[in-house]
Order: sequence, then structure tokens, then C-alpha cells
Amino acid sequence: MIQRSLEGRTALVTGSTSGIGLAIAQRLARDGATVCLHGLGDAAQIKAAISAASSGSGPQPGHFGGDLADPGAAQSLIDEVARTVGSIDILVNSAGIQHVCPVTEFSLERWNAVLAVNVTAAFLTIQRALPAMLERNWGRIINIASVSGYVGVPHKAAYAVSKHGLLGLTKVVSSETARTGVTCNAVCPAWVLTPLVERQIEARAARDGVSFATAATELVSASVPSGQFVKPEQVAGLVSFLCSPDADEVRGVGWNIDGGRLAR
Ligand code: NAD
Repeated sequence: MIQRSLEGRTALVTGSTSGIGLAIAQRLARDGATVCLHGLGDAAQIKAAISAASSGSGPQPGHFGGDLADPGAAQSLIDEVARTVGSIDILVNSAGIQHVCPVTEFSLERWNAVLAVNVTAAFLTIQRALPAMLERNWGRIINIASVSGYVGVPHKAAYAVSKHGLLGLTKVVSSETARTGVTCNAVCPAWVLTPLVERQIEARAARDGVSFATAATELVSASVPSGQFVKPEQVAGLVSFLCSPDADEVRGVGWNIDGGRLAR
């Protein structure tokens, strides 16, 4: 039986027009939350995301735009959701971008873009959403970090810095809210087969002259002990747990979901 344990809660999932964020939005909607989608995309992609995240019985998810590379957009996003749907109880920062390039060739423009979307936007959404959570003495903040929050994978300088930073931000916010009903945690997946990773597999396939399927298998088996991709739905399941009463005292963790990647 499906437990609609988040009924009455409002959730904003940034970067939920695609990939992991979309799976999280679907799961939180299934758990009964009123879900606010956010992210880039054309009208067809946004329509498809709304339809995918509609739980059938709950309210239809709304979509909010805003390019998170712009600090003003991150703040306006929180204000717009609060104005049109209500105060945010669950904030999931999932929007993220990647740029793969040796550090000697990494442009400042790309560096700034990755940091802006992956960590500065999370700082700004948390800063804006937290006061209302504290007023109600309940809230969940979940940052989608990465195993790159713990290790330095070659050619991912800005991404690694952003995810290490996101884990630091998670711990600070958790410390500042420790005596309240608000928790802040991070989830750290290894490879998840989404558009963000598909682009990296395509580049690998072109470089090695192999098929997409071969490049995908090689990518995962090179670094993940289980040899498996993490499924977006599995990340969403962990987020759902972190929103549950059982996780009331889970605070400030960076929770690996990585096929054993960081145990090696
Ligand atoms: P994705 O490309 O499928 O989705 C990214 C989402 O972020 C989209 O909704 C997109 O519209 C949004 N977004 C990107 N740039 C934006 C901007 N400037 N303004 C507003 N929204 C923007 O990627 P994904 O794999 O689902 O990644 C989601 C999160 O998970 C990211 O933070 C990523 O770093 C993290 N992550 C992914 C993997 C993986 O293997 N896919 C592993 C670990 C962590």
C-alpha cells in the first residue's frame, strides 16, 4: 500500500525537468507532497515532466522557471513558490551541471558557471527558504551532491569543488539548525544514467570508437565495484526516507549511494 506520508507538505525540487530531480519529484508526489517542479527545458519537456510527476490523486505539480546561474533567479524562485503555492517544507537542490576538461584548460567562465548552479544557487535557495521552515519548526533540506564531493575525479575540477562545497554547506546548515525540527542532509550518488552522464558516455564512445552501450559499461565498471548504474528512483527513495519521521535525527550527512565506489 502506498503511504502518503508527506500529505500537506510542499516540496520544491530544483532541476526537476530531467533526470534525478524528476525522479525525486515523482516520488515526493507519490508520497503525497504538493510538488513544485523547476528547471530548464522547452514547453514539451516541461509538459512531460508535469505529467510524469502527477500522482493522480494529489494536486497537479506546478513548474517554475529561473536560470540558477543568475543569483537573483534563485532568490525569486523561492519567493514565487511561497507566493503562489505556499511556504516550502521540503527543499531539494538537484539542479546541476558538469564540465569535463583538464584543469590547465578549464576556462574561468565554465568554472564560474558550474559553481553558480551547483553550489551558490543552493546557498541562496536555502538562505531564502530556511526562515519559514524555522518559523514552523519543520523542514527538510536535501542537497544532491555526488561522490565527487569526496574524491577528485580527473578533469572535473569545478564539479568536485562545487560538490565538496555543497557537503560543507550541508554540514554548516545542519549545525545551525540542530536544535530545531529542520534537517539538512546531502545525497552522494555515483553514476546515474541521466542526460548529464549520457553526454559523458557519448564523448567516451566517440573518443574510443565504441558503441554507447560499450562505453557505458566501461565507464561504470572502471570505477564502481558493483558495476551498476544507480537508478534515479533509488536516489529518490533515499530522499523520501530523509523526509520521513525516521530520519528526524539524521543530520548533516553526505549519504553515499554509489555501488561501493567510496568503500574502495
Ligand atoms: P540532468 O542533466 O538530467 O538534470 C539537470 C537538471 O538541472 C535539469 O532539470 C536542468 O534543467 C537543471 N539545470 C541545469 N542547469 C540549470 C540552470 N542554469 N538553471 C536552472 N536549472 C538548471 O542531470 P542529473 O544527472 O539528473 O543531475 C541532477 C543532480 O545530480 C546534479 O546536481 C548532479 O550533479 C547530481 N549527480 C548526478 C549524477 C549522475 O551520475 N547523473 C551523479 C552524482 C550527482
